[in-house]
Formats: sequence, C-alpha cells, structure tokens
Amino acid sequence: MAVKLDKGLKRKGSPIPSSEAALKRMQAAKPRDTAPEKALRSALHKKGLRFRIDVKPIKELNRKADIVFRPAKVAIFVDGCFWHGCPIHGTQAKANAEFWEHKIKQNQERDKDTVIQLEAAGWRVVRVWEHEEPEGTAQEIYEIVVKRKRR
Ligand SMILES: [Zn+2]
Repeated sequence: MAVKLDKGLKRKGSPIPSSEAALKRMQAAKPRDTAPEKALRSALHKKGLRFRIDVKPIKELNRKADIVFRPAKVAIFVDGCFWHGCPIHGTQAKANAEFWEHKIKQNQERDKDTVIQLEAAGWRVVRVWEHEEPEGTAQEIYEIVVKRKRR
C-alpha cells in the first residue's frame, strides 16, 4: 500500500523511514490470532456458538471480519487499541506522532465505513476493543446472535 506523507516531514533526518519500516513490519505481522481474539473465540465456543473466522461477511465488500455468524448476520471486529485509536490506550505513540495519527485516523474512517456498509446489507456489527474482558463481551455477543437467529 502507498503511504502518504506530509511534505514537511520529508526533510533530511526525518523519522519517517523508520515509521514506514515499522508500518511494514507491523502489517507483515498483522496478527491473525491475537491473544484477545483467541480469548473471545474460546469464550464464544464455550457458549456453544459456531462461527467462521477472518472472512468477508459479504462478498461485495472487500473487508474481513474477525468473527462471522453468517445465519444470524452478525460480524465481530476485534480492534487493536493502538491501530484503531482506543480512547484509553490509543494515544501512546510518542515517536512519529503525526504519522501514526494520520494512519489511525484512516483506520477509524474505514472502520466507520465498514459498519455503514454492513448495516446497509442487513448485518449487525459489533466492534470490540482488544482490552475488553472476553467473558462479558462473549455474553453480549451470544445474546445478539441468539436473538437474531430467532427472527
Ligand atoms: Zn484499549
């Protein structure tokens, strides 16, 4: 992907190259099975729920959700606190703050757009912060899924 940089940041000695390198590194390591995702999945399994992981809820929209309940049309996104700008942990980038701020803002806009598009297609979207306690979150999701299955 292209990383757009502000002109002002391109001067010699700017910290940007390391940001790009860091970005690439983090993207390459885009964790498929983060600990918070695994904890949530296992809590959902214990409740007897079955689901797909890391798939597109709808074909027309090229975005994958972390946990997908197809019959109930419920899509779960587990958002990393840093990447998606969690209000509690999302402001920790000290180095290259401007670069990260821009990147995180893009993610947030994309997140919003994803919700709008999925909801327009009749889906219920649940976004979960990675810091959220899995048992409580699983209970909430369970109730949503069961209710929608009964429609
Ligand atoms: Zn957080």
